[in-house]
Amino acid sequence: MRREIRRTGKRRIGRDKQLLKRSTAAIFVIFTLAISYLPGTPSWDDIYAAVGLFPSPQNYDLEDLNVFFLDVGQGDSILIYTEDTSILIDTGPKGNEQKIYNLLKTLKVESLDYLIITHQHDDHNGSQKALEKLMPITNEIIPNKTTKMAGMTLDLKDISLKFLGPVFVSDNLNNMSLVVKLSYKDTSFLFMADAEEDEEGSLLRTYSAEDLHADVLKVGHHGSESSSAPAFIKTVNPQFAVISVGKDNDYGHPHKQTLDTLKGQNINIFRTDRDGDILFTTNGETIRFSLIK
Ligand SMILES: [Zn+2]
Repeated sequence: MRREIRRTGKRRIGRDKQLLKRSTAAIFVIFTLAISYLPGTPSWDDIYAAVGLFPSPQNYDLEDLNVFFLDVGQGDSILIYTEDTSILIDTGPKGNEQKIYNLLKTLKVESLDYLIITHQHDDHNGSQKALEKLMPITNEIIPNKTTKMAGMTLDLKDISLKFLGPVFVSDNLNNMSLVVKLSYKDTSFLFMADAEEDEEGSLLRTYSAEDLHADVLKVGHHGSESSSAPAFIKTVNPQFAVISVGKDNDYGHPHKQTLDTLKGQNINIFRTDRDGDILFTTNGETIRFSLIK
């Protein structure tokens, strides 16, 4: 009797083992089928992307030059991406490193070519240290309080980055923001970081209207009334303006005065607090935009 029970027990264990083997084989087949749809040998990142941990790059409908204005709350973070080059201007406040990393992974960027920190305020550099831990960064352009960067140019294959400011050393750290103009064929972008009216005045006195003109303007200082003087906006004469700003922020950004100035000049306004991530793509002649919620 005891033997019989033992035998029954063995048979049950045998059936369980078989079931386990079959389940494992089925999971293996499903997994193999799933990854066989991915091109080449899939990496773990490809597998993460396939199961939706990273957004699909096809969603972005990329062109030669792609500029992502990321919704990082109250702060700035902009990714410039071409087939050859990746440049991040600012990281936003603390806690945005994973968002930036996920986007770079989606774009198959293994190491960031350039990290530019426009100035040392935590709404611009808050995620810098954490991002450095997540991903290799080949070059960093980080000015100190007295660096005058104006005049420097980065020529990278097709695109060019010209550092227009700061022109003069100022006690106001916002006016020590790196002001960067990106050009590709007939198209251009002007990134003002937190530059205020004093710096705008210096730029107007130093450069021609052609130098300052841009199709897309990253509005200075989150749309604060201390930036975007009408004369400056008129000279830049952009088609699109982007305000990088946090929802219900403590500063009341963007200020009505700035919005009125932009609207008064018939400029299309985008805001990261309302539009989420904003992507501009261009072939060097025409610029398209899309909103990524
Ligand atoms: Zn700021």
